[in-house]
Amino acid sequence: MFRDHMSRNTPLGEQARRFVQSGGLVPDEVVLGMVGERISRPDCQGGFVLDGFPRTQPQAEALAETLRDRPWGQPMVVYFAVDADQLLRRLTGRRTCKVGGEIYNIYDCPPKVPGRCDHDGGELFQRPDDREDVIRERLSAYDAQTRPLVDYYRARGLLAEVNAMGSQAEVTERVVQVLGRTP
Ligand SMILES: [Zn+2]
Repeated sequence: MFRDHMSRNTPLGEQARRFVQSGGLVPDEVVLGMVGERISRPDCQGGFVLDGFPRTQPQAEALAETLRDRPWGQPMVVYFAVDADQLLRRLTGRRTCKVGGEIYNIYDCPPKVPGRCDHDGGELFQRPDDREDVIRERLSAYDAQTRPLVDYYRARGLLAEVNAMGSQAEVTERVVQVLGRTP
């Protein structure tokens, strides 16, 4: 959503840009504005997945408030449990196609030709927020502000933990199993 708003240069996108580029967290009023607008669209009527939100307890409380008057009920929260080393490898290795947005990993899922997308030959680049120094900043922001949400949601019976070590196929399979049940 940040990238969508930033690429369209909306007022919310302009506000978000400064924080995304420095690895900081985007202020709640910006994030909640984007979420509220997005989930009001028709394609969310049957439900939706929030990826990377909420990231703080105030956001979680605001989300609960937003959902109170909507038809979907309480969220199921999927917690991906993964080692810090593995996480760094995935993030620092990530490369994105400039043409189609396809995602590669130079360690685990490299393109056939280095620097080029298999699908459309587009140039692969590293997003500014995937650089190692920015990632370390993101991880310490996560520890301070987001990790407490694990206990917050576990206490409310909404947390489903998934072992996220393993291949994409293995982790996908585990997520599908979890989504088939109530936490
Ligand atoms: Zn591509």
